[in-house]
This record gives sequence, C-alpha cells and structure tokens, in this order.
Amino acid sequence: MTVALTILETDARAETAIDAVILAGRYAAERHWVPATSGNFSVRIDSERIAITRSGVDKGALTRADVLIQKLDAPLVAGSSAEAALHTRHYVEQPDTGAIFHIHGPHSTVIGLAHAAGGAVRLDGWELQKALSGVKTHETTIEVPIFANDQDIDALSDRVAAYLSTPVKSDAVRAPGYLLAGHGLYAWGKTAQDARRHVEALETLFQQSMMLRSYRP
Ligand SMILES: [Zn+2]
Repeated sequence: MTVALTILETDARAETAIDAVILAGRYAAERHWVPATSGNFSVRIDSERIAITRSGVDKGALTRADVLIQKLDAPLVAGSSAEAALHTRHYVEQPDTGAIFHIHGPHSTVIGLAHAAGGAVRLDGWELQKALSGVKTHETTIEVPIFANDQDIDALSDRVAAYLSTPVKSDAVRAPGYLLAGHGLYAWGKTAQDARRHVEALETLFQQSMMLRSYRP
C-alpha cells in the first residue's frame, strides 16, 4: 500500500510540474519572448527529476506530450533541446532551484550582445529590482553576467557552473539569471512563480535601461 501511495504522490508532483511548464510557455509566448519555437522551460519534480519542454515546439501551444520527464542523472531523453543540459547541470548543482525559464526576449537578446565585451550588465536605481528574490532596495547593484553564445552546450555549462560556484567579485548582488550574448536570458527561482517573476523583471529592467540610454529630454 505504501509503495502504491508513494507512486501516486510522485505522479501528482510530475503532473503539477508539467502544468507549470505549459503555463510558463504560454505566458512567455503572449509577451513575444519565445519567437519561432525558441526558449525552453523546466520545473523540478523532485530531487531526481525535472519536467522540461521538448525541442522545436511552439512554446505558446504546448501540450502534455511536448513536456519531457528528464532524470537528472541520466542522458538527455530523445526529443530534448541541446540546451536541456544547461538546465540539468544547474538543478544538480543548485538544489534550491525549483524552476528555470529561458527566453529569447528582444531586450535580453540585444543588451547581452551590446555589453558582451564587459561580461556583465549592472542594474542600479530601479524600483523593479526588488522583484528579484532577496533584493530589498533600488540602491542595491545587481550583476547579470553575460556569457558568449556557444553551440557547445557542455562547454557553456562549465562556464556557467564555474561562475555560479564563485563569489561575486564586486560589491554587487548576483541576479538569479544570466545572459547569453545575442541569444537570450536564463532565469530561475525556488518556484515556478519566482522564476516567472525574475524573467519578467529582468526583461523589463533591460528594456528600461535601453530606453534610458536612448531618451533625450
Ligand atoms: Zn535559446
């Protein structure tokens, strides 16, 4: 009985994670952050598994069949995006992470390329920074690192993991996200709601930063 009950509870957690992935994809598509089947979304089921979008599907019209169950200690399942390895590595090394959302939002994509040589975008003075978990004031400087885009996802995963395992060198606070230059934004949180808020806050903060640069009173 105990075994059957455990399986039922586990399956319910998987179903909840799949629902959260579908919702995240629809939300991002409505905001034009995942053009032409780009982007990917994952939600942790438990310490061993995640639910993650399959490759090459419209993230605004996900069905349950478009969401894969991936074991964190197993090779990527058939139909996975190459970028799925960025998710699995992150979940293994950051046990607090409950969801990772990746968008090709226009402002994330452009600002990442524009600041690629500097290696980071720093946000300072914006009220919306407080939407990032743990940030209490607009006076905190937020560092969003930028990694060169790379089709070698294992090499990219190594660079991201090395960054996340090292303390921030400046007096800035590390954002719950990073940019891939000319590619887009990865952001995460303890829950799907946190990850969604972080994606929306960062994409909007990049938009406002770009507007400030171009606005001439
Ligand atoms: Zn991408």
